[in-house]
Amino acid sequence: MAVASVSERAFDVLVVGAGPAGAYAAVTAAKAGLTVALIDKARFPRDKLCGGLFTGRARNVFSVIHGHDIDMALFDQHSALEFFFHGTSLDRMQDVPPMFTTMRRPFDASLRDLALAAGAVDFAGQRIANVETGPNCLGLADGTRLTGRILIGADGVNSMVARALFGQAYDRATIGFALEVETEALHLRPGGDLQVSFGAVKGGYGWSFPKRHSTTVGVGGPVALTPNMRPGLDRYLSDCGIPSAACTVKGHLLPVGDFRAVPGQGAVLLAGDAAGLVDPVTGEGIAHAMQSGQFAALSALEALASDAPATVLDLYRARLRDMHRGLRMARQIRHVIYARPLQASFARSFRNSTVLKAMYLDVLAGRAEYTALFRAVLRRTPRLILRAARQTILPAHVGR
Ligand SMILES: Cc1cc2nc3c(=O)[nH]c(=O)nc-3n(C[C@H](O)[C@H](O)[C@H](O)COP(=O)(O)OP(=O)(O)OC[C@H]3O[C@@H](n4cnc5c(N)ncnc54)[C@H](O)[C@@H]3O)c2cc1C
Repeated sequence: MAVASVSERAFDVLVVGAGPAGAYAAVTAAKAGLTVALIDKARFPRDKLCGGLFTGRARNVFSVIHGHDIDMALFDQHSALEFFFHGTSLDRMQDVPPMFTTMRRPFDASLRDLALAAGAVDFAGQRIANVETGPNCLGLADGTRLTGRILIGADGVNSMVARALFGQAYDRATIGFALEVETEALHLRPGGDLQVSFGAVKGGYGWSFPKRHSTTVGVGGPVALTPNMRPGLDRYLSDCGIPSAACTVKGHLLPVGDFRAVPGQGAVLLAGDAAGLVDPVTGEGIAHAMQSGQFAALSALEALASDAPATVLDLYRARLRDMHRGLRMARQIRHVIYARPLQASFARSFRNSTVLKAMYLDVLAGRAEYTALFRAVLRRTPRLILRAARQTILPAHVGR
């Protein structure tokens, strides 16, 4: 239940946004005994456009924070994944590390419930009228003023907190976008094969993730390369055998281009999509959102324990170092996977290399970081360039 509005309330930590990043910042801070306000403009449960792939990496983050596994009733489990390249199957891999799909409506609500159960104070359905930083103060539309020694902006890719700090929420030159449909047109098999299609749009990919009541099908990539993704979506839907006329198409920004190297300022931190923490190869953002939310809260705890809120950003950056390194490597790998001249030879290499595929799956499963995959792709890059050069003289279809 939302609390009654009062004119001014003071907290240790203000968390704006109650998606995976905000919920994890709030649950971690509240469990550690800090006073936390969790503010979201939406009332929960609420929808969020998303493929809903919940990887082993995200499951690990949950278990570490809560000390037990996540409620598996929220998920369908999948054990096969088929990779495509421009509609041609590269491989169908069976017995992959377990992967899960979920609908964000119940999933996000369940994470937020955990934060409220840990003691975070609920300000759901509250529009923020203004954000002041240093000292941190949020003015809510109903007149309430919330102050916090530390402010965590977990308000998604269009972050109002990021805009208050930097003038814009994201970089228009690097931002990604995704189009998605939720369809019942496919023959539904809960637990059926997941599909990932490299190159479904320029510089990006497509996905088809079956759930128990529908299948989520979408395409996404950098806006600069594909300003209009609709033709790519229509092509991909047609590859999947879905009549696009029967679908309601929705779109959302996807921060796959870059992340904020300095995710905050003073005693204000950005987490999750607000900090651009989405994997540019896989499009995975839920695990990074949860993890960065946790890191933000742990940094807040440490800074407040030494009565030095201004140190929070340095503490947070140190915790994010490995994640940033992984995302930087992923960005380099993306250039190889999605660069038009190299795409076909990469696809061929991927199809023929059990090692590459296993590494990709290990990254998704949270069993490995990008280092090994990065080295493997780097080792193959000269060969890919050579092959690409030969193909421009003698073009060959990847499937042959
Ligand atoms: C089409 C698409 C498909 C995707 N598929 C996957 C996938 O399969 N697997 C995966 O891991 N990731 C996927 N992602 C990425 C994933 O959805 C995000 O990375 C993840 O949701 C980030 O979580 P977050 O908490 O940072 O932000 P969000 O989930 O966006 O939550 C932000 C919250 O902030 C609130 N908010 C926003 N503005 C304000 C404001 N001014 N005041 C108060 N509250 C505010 C919103 O209501 C929302 O609840 C996909 C993204 C897209 C667009």
